[in-house]
Order: sequence, then structure tokens, then C-alpha cells
Amino acid sequence: MSATTAADAPGWLASQKSRVSGPVATTIGLGLAGGLLLIVQASLFALLANAVIFDNAGLARIAPWLIGIAALVLVRAGLVYAAQQSAFVAGRRIKTAIRARLIARLGTLGIVWQRATPTGDVVNTLTDGVEALEAYYARYLPQSALAALIPLSILVVVVPIDWLSALILVITAPLIPVFMVFIGRGAEKLNQRQWRRMGQLSGHFLDALSGLSTLRIFNLGRREARLIARFSEEYRLATLRVLRLAFVSSLVLEFLATVSIAMVAVLIGFRLLWGDLGFAAGFVVLLLAPEFYLPLRNMGSVYHARMEAIGAAEGIVVLLDEAESGPATAMPGTEQIGLAAGRAPYIELRDVGLCYPDGTPALRAIDLAITPGETVAIVGASGAGKSTLAGVLLGLLAPSTGQVWVDGIDRSQLDAGYWHRFCAWVPQQPRLFHGTVRDNLALADPAADDATLWHALERAQARDFVAALADGLDTAIGERGLSLSGGEIQRLAIARALVSQAPFVVVDEASAHLDRPNEVALTAALAELGAGRSLVVIAHRLATIRRADRIVVLDAGRIVEIGTHNRLRAAGGPYAAMLGEAPR
Ligand code: ADP
Repeated sequence: MSATTAADAPGWLASQKSRVSGPVATTIGLGLAGGLLLIVQASLFALLANAVIFDNAGLARIAPWLIGIAALVLVRAGLVYAAQQSAFVAGRRIKTAIRARLIARLGTLGIVWQRATPTGDVVNTLTDGVEALEAYYARYLPQSALAALIPLSILVVVVPIDWLSALILVITAPLIPVFMVFIGRGAEKLNQRQWRRMGQLSGHFLDALSGLSTLRIFNLGRREARLIARFSEEYRLATLRVLRLAFVSSLVLEFLATVSIAMVAVLIGFRLLWGDLGFAAGFVVLLLAPEFYLPLRNMGSVYHARMEAIGAAEGIVVLLDEAESGPATAMPGTEQIGLAAGRAPYIELRDVGLCYPDGTPALRAIDLAITPGETVAIVGASGAGKSTLAGVLLGLLAPSTGQVWVDGIDRSQLDAGYWHRFCAWVPQQPRLFHGTVRDNLALADPAADDATLWHALERAQARDFVAALADGLDTAIGERGLSLSGGEIQRLAIARALVSQAPFVVVDEASAHLDRPNEVALTAALAELGAGRSLVVIAHRLATIRRADRIVVLDAGRIVEIGTHNRLRAAGGPYAAMLGEAPR
């Protein structure tokens, strides 16, 4: 995560304002209207008190004023309610928009990125992080406008009535924001630190949960519990530090406001005594003085919301940034450049090189064409660049140099979503989703009927074990395939790819040791998958790819050999050496 993005967070927050300018302006307008009515209400109240105390006014005379004040109270309550509603709309709108953007970004990020990023961090950003933005747009923005507008309106009223009180208000008012900014500086850093701790804690907790069985096997449960306890404790302390600062800052602001009001009150008291000031005028100023400071004091609490949002925005900015520097994303309006529907395109990589953002060169000068219907296997040692090449072929990673052409069209000209309709991807550890076997298969084609699903299962060598499940296609399976073996999960994923009818499929073959029957089944399933499709298999087991049309051998990001099994074996090069290491 780059260090510069943290500083971008306030700028980014401000740049998103336009998404909610309507509801925020409404909230401000309603708040201001409420503030103006309050001035009217205070004036009415002062006149009423004046009439009762000095003119001995009876109930009949003051009744209309009382009714007026009651009506004002009701209208103001309505305005507060409406302002809260529009603030809520602003919050909801921004959260929905940012979440949609983040999820869309995550969708365009490659497999390799997902492997390298802690899930806990991402989840934290998507949930609590986005949630924390609400307070910024729904409370901080409107409140900061009102903190200027309401005191100004009150001042306009007070100056002609009593310039001396107005002068005290003008002199003391800036103290509050000045102190706030002063305290806020430190708090901002504390908040960002606290937010990072929260990310660490979530990431660590998620890792610990997913690796629970491993931890048990190695008897590391206690050590892990101690680690989590330590992280939680650090998070607790960080939270308390932030809260302490927030409370201290509120205390200071309250104190300043109280002292200022007292000054106004004492001076009014003396002048009333000396007869320099009329009762109604003095009373109205006294009533308005606390209202003058109230929006400024409220700023203290919403300023805390702002800092929390900045802390959260840091994670969001990093995620969006990574996504933006990641693979090519959708180019709207380019769908008119079309590929032939339902047919595998001719895919050509020309002089493709790829460097990861950290500078790791993963692919160099790759020239490779995949003709429609061909089965190509990619082999090579761990770290040779197989997954990266698969990512480039699928359009999940954008090459740093060179181009990818599909049917003679530069793929970067195609909409990413459009291109992905032609692709299916079977990862090493396919994810099944909560739901039935049918739900999982029909993801690829919701309209597929049972006969189609069974046919796909049969071709993927998965029919027998699905038929043996208690409820067949209706058996509920969990995220990790509940009671299915790794080989079975992968064959279900192959069946899913068969249902999808995508003409270009990339399979990252399971590297876990498969027993002989599973290996035979996988080989047969891959042969079915390759029939009539272009198929690229990242092979970890040489036995399953003997019949591939071509085998591409990668080493340190370069293609070092291409050919059929027989030819490469006869050539006695790197592939033959790999066969020698793992004879089968
Ligand atoms: P393979 O699939 O053959 O094991 P990869 O394509 O995963 O190889 O990796 C190729 C090279 O790129 C390796 O040196 C690996 O360390 C590096 N690499 C992979 N993913 C990333 C990443 N997200 N950031 C930086 N380097 C990466």
C-alpha cells in the first residue's frame, strides 16, 4: 500500500461530494430554515416575556403569541425530521455508489491480485469502511455549512439590537474552530492508525479461522489465541486513545462556549441594571447566544465523524487505486466491434510482457497463438509464470508490453464484460457457493434444464458421485463443497464450465495429489471440456496433458519449448527433463 494514498483520502472524500450534492443541499436548506425559525421563535418569546412582566398582559393578549410559538416548535420539529431524512438519503446513496464501484473493481482484478491480498482487509473496507463514509456526507458536510450559516444569521439579527454582544460573539466564535482544528490534527493520525489496526485484526482473525484445522494439527491454538488477544488489546487501546481525544476536545469546546455565553450574559445583566439596554432586546440576545455557539459545538462531534471517514477512505482509495492500475477495464460503447458468437476466437499474444507493480517481471516476450478448438497445456516450475499467463489470456491481467489480439481485434478495444462472456475459468480451488448442486451448475446458465445439467455432469465425470448424493441435484453444498473431495469439486467446476457454453476455457489443474481413479476421471473430463472448445490447461501433473495438441513450457516468464508430448519428449529438452523427474 503506497504511502501517498493516505494523504489523498480527504481529497478523495471531497471529490465524491457531487454524488450527493442534491440531498446534502436539501439537508443544509432545511437546517438553515430551522435556524431562521428559531430566531423568530426567540424574538416572539422575548416579546411575550416583556409583555407579561412589564405590561401585565393577560392571557387573551398573549394567546396568539403562544399559539405562534407552539406552531413554530411543531414546524421546526418537522424540519428536523425532513433534514434527517434527506441526510439519510445522502448516506444511502453514497454507500450504495461506493460499494458498487468497489465491487465492480474487485470483479476486474485478477486472480493473482486476489491471491496476494488479505481477504479480511478487503472485507473490512467493503463493510465498516464504506459504512464510516455515511457520517461524513450525512452529518459532517451539512453541519459544517450550518456552522457558518446559522451563527451568521444570528449575528445579522443581534448587531442592530445590541452591537456589544455581537462583538463578543464575533471575537469568541473563531476560538472554537481554531481549537478544533488544533486538536483534530493529532486525532486524524490516531484515527488512521486505528483503522489500520482494525484491518490487521480482521485479516488476522479471518486467517486464523480459515486455518483453524492446521493450527490444531500443529498445536498452535494457544499461540494464535494469544496473538489475537494481543491484536484485540492494541485495538482496544487505540480506540480508547481516539475516544479520549474526542472527549477532551468536546470538553474544551463546551468550556469555551460556556465561558463566552457567560460573558454575554454578565454584560447584558449589568446593562439591564444600569438601564442601558431594554429588557426585550437583552432577553432575545440571551436566548440567541447559546444557539449561536450550538452549531459550532456540534462541529466538534461531527469532526470526529470526518476523521473516522478519512481513516476509512484510506483503505478505499488504496483498493480503487490498485484496481485502476490493474487490468484493463470495461470500455463502454465498444460492443459494436464484435466476435463471432458462440465460437472460439483465434487468440494471439504478440510480444507480451508483464511486470507486477512491485517490479517483478513475470512474463517476457511471449508469442503464442491459440487456434479455435485447440487444447494447449502450460507447464513449468512454480513461479515460472503459468498463472500470470492464464490471467493475461483470460483478460484478468493487462500486459505491460505487447498486445493480445482476438480474431484480429486488439482485445484492449473490447469491453471486458463482453470478452468474459467468451471465457470460463476453472481455478485450482474452485469456489462453490451456498446452495444446491443445481444452483451451482446453473450459475453458468440459469436457463439450463436438468437434462442439460446431468449431461454436463456426465461429461465432467461427476454424474456418479452427484447421483449418489442424498438429494442428487438438490443436495445442498456449502462454500467449500461440504463432504466433496478436491477432485470432485474440480469436476463439478468443469461441469459448470461445460454448462456455460463458453468457447474458451482455462483450467488451473489441481496440484494436490490425486489418486489414480481421480486422475483418470480428470483426464477424461478435460478431454470432454476440450471437445469443440479452445482449452488451456495449467498443468501440474504431466499425465493429464499427454494428449494436448501443444504443450508450452515456461521458464522464468519465457516460453522455452512448444510442441506435442511425443515431440518434446524426443527432443530431450526441459520437458523431457521434467518427465524424467516425475516418470509416469
Ligand atoms: P506460477 O503460476 O507458474 O507458479 P506465477 O504466474 O504465479 O507463477 O508467478 C510468476 C512470477 O510472478 C513469480 O516470480 C511470482 O513471484 C510473481 N508474482 C505472482 N503474483 C504476483 C503479484 N501479485 N505481485 C508480484 N509478483 C507476483
